[in-house]
Parts: sequence; structure tokens; C-alpha cells
Amino acid sequence: MTIQLIKSEAICLNVRPFSKTSHMVTWMTRTNGCISTPVKGAQRPKSAFLGKYDIGYTCELIFYARGNHGVHHIRECTPLQFREALHHTWHRATAASYLCDLTLRTTHAEQKHDALYVTLTQALDTVQYCNRHESALAALWYECRLLHLLGLRPDFTQCPHCPPSEFITFSVEEGYAICKHRPSRLTRPVTLTLHREMRELFAHFANTPLPALLSAARGTSRTDELGRPEPFAGMFGLRRFLGVFLAEHLELLPGARRTMLDILIGG
Ligand SMILES: [Zn+2]
Repeated sequence: MTIQLIKSEAICLNVRPFSKTSHMVTWMTRTNGCISTPVKGAQRPKSAFLGKYDIGYTCELIFYARGNHGVHHIRECTPLQFREALHHTWHRATAASYLCDLTLRTTHAEQKHDALYVTLTQALDTVQYCNRHESALAALWYECRLLHLLGLRPDFTQCPHCPPSEFITFSVEEGYAICKHRPSRLTRPVTLTLHREMRELFAHFANTPLPALLSAARGTSRTDELGRPEPFAGMFGLRRFLGVFLAEHLELLPGARRTMLDILIGG
């Protein structure tokens, strides 16, 4: 087996305890996609890796790639961007760890994905300067972008043979709008009725750079019926749709997402 020494920029997605004093760190690398590196003795006071990584950091990583299910031996780690503000504000920390966790759960080991790497970098960079509600917008934006980049973008195209309507019936598992002309192939399809506003909002989120989206949100004082900021029409529908669609297509457990939204939107 050949062992290759690789130097790559990497975003730290997850840190978990591993044996008594060690960590298992999961990264999204620029060169090799998602990988994990055990860091032996990481929690000892004299560890060379002390303070060098945390969730949301971008680091320069040197590791030995051994082609072993994405688990590699780390040699060096130099933090390039700490994104301190993510760690000092609870709502930013919540959003950042959700973004990292979502990436971790939806990408495969050793699968390089440049566009996703860049998108996650942009999201983390921007969340540093977000207030609580903007952090929630950034999380929704990332979910839409992620579906687009993974080739899982829902197809909301309306049937040209049906009369135009504000609503479509959407088959969640198949990922497209169904009608009598284009019926579901499933015996019991799970469907959602989706309003035009929500579908337009999805497209807006998926196609707009995050800074532009946030700047548009800052330009309005629109609120929901409870008086909470809701800068765009269709937000409630989009949140609900993404929850159902992500759970179906990315096999996500709804708990983490619900907690994140409760923290960032609730109250
Ligand atoms: Zn039709």
C-alpha cells in the first residue's frame, strides 16, 4: 500500500472524544473531501495540537493518506482562520455547528467537492457577522445551495397541460410536481402542496449569493404574525419544505435541525 503525504486546506466539521485523551476530528478537505483523523493525546496539556482546531476553523492540514475508509494519520495542523466570532456568540455557534454537521452527514469520504467547500467557507465567513435571525437565514440558504450542489434540487416545474395555479402537488420522494398528466410512479406517494411564493423563494435562496440575500433581508421590516422578523414571503413554507425534503433525501434526523431553528427563530 502506498502512503502519500498530503497538504490541504480543510474545514473542521466535528471534534469528538476518542479514547481517554484523544480526539477524532472530521474535516472537509479541499483535496480529498471528508476525512477523519485521530489526534492522539489531543487533550493532554502538552499536545502539539492544543488549540489548533475547533468546529468552523479552516486549517492547513498535513496528513498521510492511506486509502483506508477516509481515516488518516495527521502530521501537522496550522489554523488559517479561527473565525473567533463564531465561538463567542451562542446563536452563531449554533448555526456554524449545524452547517458543519449537515456537511458531514451529506458528503462521502474521499469525495472532493470544490463548490461545496467554497460554499461552506462563504457560509461560515458570513455567519460570523450575523444576528440571530440572519443566522437562521444563512442556515436555510446553505440547505438550498447544498441540495443544488449535490444534484438534489427539487423540480417545481408546473405541467404545461394543467391550468396555471398558485399551488402544485409535489411528490417528496420523487422530487417533482405531479398531476394527472405526469402521475407519480409510486403506489402511495408522500406529497406536499406547495405555494408559488415558497417555490420562488427556494429558487431565490439557491441562486443568490449569501451576502446579497442578507442585504435584501436587512432592507425590509416585514414580520410574521408573531412579530418575528420574516423578510421574505414564503419563509414558513420554505422552512417546512426543507425539513421534509432533507429528511427524505439526505436521511437526516430531524432533531438537530429542529433544535437549531428553535434556538435561532423561536422566542
Ligand atoms: Zn398536468
